[in-house]
Amino acid sequence: MDSDVLIIGGGVLGTSLSYHLSKKGISSTLFEKEGSLAHHASGKNAGMIRQLYRHPQLTEWAKRSITSWPLSLKSLVFKETGSIVLGRNMPAHHKELFSSGEIHTQEKCTPYVYCKTDGLLDSSGYVQGLKDLANSNYSHFHFGAMVQEISKNSDSWKLRTENGATFEGKWLVNAAGAWVNQIMNPALSRHRISVEAFARFLFLSKGWQEKPPAPHAYGFYWDEKNEWYMRDWSEDCSLISACDTIPADPETYTPDSNIEHSISSRILKAIPDLASNLTLGRGWHCFRTYTDDMLPVWGEDELLPGLFWLAGFGGFGMSTSFGATEDAASYIAGEKVSCCHDFNPSRVKKYEPITRDALISNV
Ligand SMILES: Cc1cc2nc3c(=O)[nH]c(=O)nc-3n(C[C@H](O)[C@H](O)[C@H](O)COP(=O)(O)OP(=O)(O)OC[C@H]3O[C@@H](n4cnc5c(N)ncnc54)[C@H](O)[C@@H]3O)c2cc1C
Repeated sequence: MDSDVLIIGGGVLGTSLSYHLSKKGISSTLFEKEGSLAHHASGKNAGMIRQLYRHPQLTEWAKRSITSWPLSLKSLVFKETGSIVLGRNMPAHHKELFSSGEIHTQEKCTPYVYCKTDGLLDSSGYVQGLKDLANSNYSHFHFGAMVQEISKNSDSWKLRTENGATFEGKWLVNAAGAWVNQIMNPALSRHRISVEAFARFLFLSKGWQEKPPAPHAYGFYWDEKNEWYMRDWSEDCSLISACDTIPADPETYTPDSNIEHSISSRILKAIPDLASNLTLGRGWHCFRTYTDDMLPVWGEDELLPGLFWLAGFGGFGMSTSFGATEDAASYIAGEKVSCCHDFNPSRVKKYEPITRDALISNV
């Protein structure tokens, strides 16, 4: 065996898992097709660390992430700022984290939820910091290593990279972000998880005369009803999104030339008063991945034992990944983890009804 665990994907999920495994003395080798970590969603997202989710397990993971990040890293990459989510009521779970109220304007009053311990993250710095803190005796990283083929023997997994190198491990973890299904080809082509990718644009902007008024200080403000959000980015600059959700194949997607204009028009329409002096500057996009039920895919594959999925973390992967991968590492270590039944891969499979034996002999 080259490693106990082979991890495909050097985003926040793959890297964080490698960190947690190393703390348990379990060896892992991570493969990233790009030249560095966090090249895609994990380095290009909005970095808003949020704990308000409908599913209590997501809130639990997010809460645990904030409270158990290594302090040396947390102090460098995270700032507790508080957050306001407009258009939401107090959740039925984790009430200790939140307070709620209503914001009144001339025409209407809108409910909001405030979370004091939410904050802002330097996403790329965080992922790199996790790699630096992983025990290098156990965590190995290969960059420019595109995994091209995977196969299963009786009790181990084999993987081949584009340049022909092969590796063997007891476990295989698919943390390939928007590419999770590409890897399953060709060897396991009938075995796919229904995870779809959606592009979303973010813009930097100067020109806020004042931030939207709210009863508490905040670092990000999310208006779920009118579908836009903003976060503090630098002293004189905000990051802003119109919450666009554009179905996109990450391999082939190129934005049409008018897209930035149409998205900025939507922002101006959603918040005409606040945005009248706003100029949208540099913009970029990256891919969020979702299942039909908007919940992540976390767990061991029932048809292919030893294959662990970390996929479909949508717009909440930065917030929840530390807790989610801590539990994944415990599971792989053979410890009892009882948290995540709703996220089981079997619920989102779209495969032809073939027997497990046929599938295994097929790979
Ligand atoms: C616009 C936007 C804003 C967001 N804002 C927030 C936010 O404010 N807060 C929050 O909590 N979350 C946010 N998210 C969500 C968060 O960014 C994602 O959930 C998270 O980054 C997903 O991490 P990942 O490791 O699954 O994927 P990725 O970061 O995409 O990592 C997967 C990696 O796998 C690699 N890979 C793929 N195929 C192969 C292969 N065959 N061989 C080798 N390597 C391969 C890719 O190159 C990639 O680096 C946002 C997402 C987007 C798009």
